[in-house]
Amino acid sequence: MSSSAHIDTLLQHMGTAPFDPKTGTAPVNLPSMRASTVRFASLEALENAQQRKAAGERAATYGRMGMDTHAALEQVFCQLEDGTHCYLAPSGMAGITMVFLALLSAGDHALVADCVYGPVHELDAALLSRMGIELTLYHAGDDLEKLLRPNTRLLYAEAPGSLLFEMLDLPALARFARQHHLVLATDNTWGSGYIYRPLALGAQVSVIAGTKYVGGHSDLMLGAVVTNDEAIAKRLNRTQYAMGYSVSADDAWLALRGVRTMPVRMAQHARHALEVCEFLQQRPEVAAIYHPAWPGDAGHALWQRDCTGSNGMLAVQLRLSPQAARVFVDALTLFGIGFSWGGFESLVQLVTPGELARHHYWTGGQDALVRLHIGLESPADLIADLAQALQRAQGR
Ligand SMILES: *Cc1c(COP(=O)(O)O)cnc(C)c1O
Repeated sequence: MSSSAHIDTLLQHMGTAPFDPKTGTAPVNLPSMRASTVRFASLEALENAQQRKAAGERAATYGRMGMDTHAALEQVFCQLEDGTHCYLAPSGMAGITMVFLALLSAGDHALVADCVYGPVHELDAALLSRMGIELTLYHAGDDLEKLLRPNTRLLYAEAPGSLLFEMLDLPALARFARQHHLVLATDNTWGSGYIYRPLALGAQVSVIAGTKYVGGHSDLMLGAVVTNDEAIAKRLNRTQYAMGYSVSADDAWLALRGVRTMPVRMAQHARHALEVCEFLQQRPEVAAIYHPAWPGDAGHALWQRDCTGSNGMLAVQLRLSPQAARVFVDALTLFGIGFSWGGFESLVQLVTPGELARHHYWTGGQDALVRLHIGLESPADLIADLAQALQRAQGR
């Protein structure tokens, strides 16, 4: 297989099981290789493995780092993200924590986009602030130069951002980071390496919650941190090891299974989300639609420039009272009320004013914000569900 093949082809051919040299046969899929202990045929074999590991090879000497199933998944993430090293984490959030702890020390300062995944603020409050690491939130319109400190080390982004899917100008952030010797790390859960590739746009670190579109079936938790920088890779590796992170082989196996169908799933999520946008645009209750692939979105031009596709995530600003917005959400029958996204099913989240407060991008005042994940259902059924729920919200 040529590595210049299209990513859709690579995703079907990477990480399959090798042929048995005796029989010339193999199952298509690698099995879930569960292990805590790795056995060595001799002390020499053990020492060989340790030497290869010390030289930077992925030689498993203990189960915590995972065996072949994990190695195959790491390669898939590297391929998706155009990176050279991948480190797995037991959740997307654990991946984010790995990045901050690997790249920052006591006394360091980081610039963090105000549109990041909400729990990053909890990481700050619970851990980073106690360790003497300071964060400053920035937004797209800020003059970053003014926020820089002599001890600033990290520029952390998420594009499109959480809740409102605000597109950031990643190549511009990368230029700024290079100029000031900062590491640019970004949360790429939205793109999952398939429709948006931050490393190719100048970032050095990309974090993905594999829990979302990679897994794709709402049944696993997984994170991945990918880099193309040798020095950063060493720091990530040590941090991952020191924190004792481990991913179940079964979850790695499910994630490998998930990526096979990511091309078809993603395309259908994206197509159906646009159909829903078209419906929403005609409704008088709708004040704004947040979905970068939608031509009316403020980030559409950046999306066109930097992304190769889209997904099922959108948010809709509704001219509804808080009470009417609750009626709307409760009236939906095909949209499950729940956090997370990227599975096959449609979901709805009523975003609270507190969650929006940090987002400079939000200009909706007292309007309600509802985040939707458009699943793989028939869009006509989803639209009918949204229409009846909007009617109910109007008391009809
Ligand atoms: C869900 C999510 C995460 C965290 O992933 P978990 O696997 O749930 O910990 C991180 N970033 C973004 C943008 C997410 O949506």
